[in-house]
Amino acid sequence: MERRRLVIIGAGPTGLGAAWRLRELGERDFVVLDAAPEPGGLARSFRDERGFTWDLGGHVLFSHYPYFDAALRAAVGDDGWYHHQREAWARMYGAWVPYPVQNNLRHLPREVLLKCVLGLVRASRGGAGRPENFAQWIDATFGAGLAEVFMRPYNFKVWAYPPESMGWSWIGERVAVTELERVLTNVLLEKDDVSWGPNNTFQFPKEGGTGGVWRAVAKRVGPEHLRLGARVSAVDTQRRVVTLSDGEELRYDALISTMPIDRLLSVMEPRDELARTAASRLVHSSTHVVGLGLQGNAPPSLATKCWMYFPEGNTPFYRATVFSNYSPAHVPDPKRYWSLMTETSESPQKPVLAARLVEDTIQGAIASGLIESRAQVASVWAHRMEYGYPTPSLERDAHLARVMPALEEKNVFSRGRFGAWKYEVSNQDHSFMQGVEVVNRLLLQERETTLVSGR
Ligand SMILES: Cc1cc2nc3c(=O)[nH]c(=O)nc-3n(C[C@H](O)[C@H](O)[C@H](O)COP(=O)(O)OP(=O)(O)OC[C@H]3O[C@@H](n4cnc5c(N)ncnc54)[C@H](O)[C@@H]3O)c2cc1C
Repeated sequence: MERRRLVIIGAGPTGLGAAWRLRELGERDFVVLDAAPEPGGLARSFRDERGFTWDLGGHVLFSHYPYFDAALRAAVGDDGWYHHQREAWARMYGAWVPYPVQNNLRHLPREVLLKCVLGLVRASRGGAGRPENFAQWIDATFGAGLAEVFMRPYNFKVWAYPPESMGWSWIGERVAVTELERVLTNVLLEKDDVSWGPNNTFQFPKEGGTGGVWRAVAKRVGPEHLRLGARVSAVDTQRRVVTLSDGEELRYDALISTMPIDRLLSVMEPRDELARTAASRLVHSSTHVVGLGLQGNAPPSLATKCWMYFPEGNTPFYRATVFSNYSPAHVPDPKRYWSLMTETSESPQKPVLAARLVEDTIQGAIASGLIESRAQVASVWAHRMEYGYPTPSLERDAHLARVMPALEEKNVFSRGRFGAWKYEVSNQDHSFMQGVEVVNRLLLQERETTLVSGR
């Protein structure tokens, strides 16, 4: 039986981050296993039969870590990137409102604007007490008007769960909050205010979509450390053995897993009923990506837009990205084609009729003014991810507090978007660094910070 000091399940950003650091430290006794035929996990890209490239939803690289930046530069090269100015918009009341909506209310109809401003004024008086859930946080932060016209409907479309069932400790820099004076100034001086946020500029790989980055990282890790098409079907923590679906066994000293934590617990022996039950109560939503390859050129209204939010009911999708604006290589011929990539969430509380989704997406694109007619559609690409968003449910942290220590006792380190189930640290940079930091902990006894403190 093959034996490795470290076995890593998953060649997504987390597993590759761990592998990258292991190589850097001169450690050679490890292997990364992934069920998929390509590295990248949720950050993979696909090319459809007509030659359009698609990501698994709008992936924007913006980083909190110099280490991550340096690794990606080393893998892709300095010249392998486009640098984009973020242009994000919301489609509301038939108008394009620059993001963040609360700073650009002047684009809304007057009576809606008034409702939003009055709500903000009332909310600014305070007195609501500490919010108990995300819904209360929305109301207290944005006031009733903005909550009604944007925050509540949009967040339900994204998360697929009611905000009453979600916590709000994950928010941090993720949601633009509001300064009343700034809002009023922008309204009265008719000013657009679009500079908010950590990702107001971002870089995108010139070739291969987001997945091109992770293919390049995997190449640097080295094929001798990667086994693709290798699905883990069982983990025996007593014998420290991982079994693959073809029956092959691999022995490990320590296991780093990035597969969804509920699935990991369900294939782990001996069974740990407490941890298994806690993991099964973690909540997630699924994501459908529908890509539309389109004939002609993007209309002037979309020519420089990056992504757009759709809070209203006339589209199934909550977000659409003009993916051809990120790189001309995303379409077979940039003179003749452009492309839109949409994301629709699904959960037991927000079911999606998959058989209708492509048609609903095309109709939604027409209804919201993205395209004029279905005759423009040259190619359709549809993909469903069972695990899309790790939901910050109210009970999430209590469940994680049972699961994570129980795994570590067994020398299993579960990290990454669904390995650690912390939305607030589950972007590509965070995930990669979770992998790096767990290796630093195992080999150098350093403290992990991303998972613990979000930084
Ligand atoms: C819709 C959407 C939009 C996003 N937008 C952004 C964004 O704008 N910016 C950003 O930085 N990030 C974004 N992300 C997050 C990004 O995709 C994640 O940060 C990243 O992919 C998480 O990496 P990971 O390695 O933790 O997990 P994953 O990417 O999920 O990788 C886990 C790997 O484990 C493998 N695996 C699972 N089970 C097994 C098994 N039994 N045996 C072997 N292998 C297994 C899978 O095949 C997969 O390759 C987005 C994600 C989604 C879904």
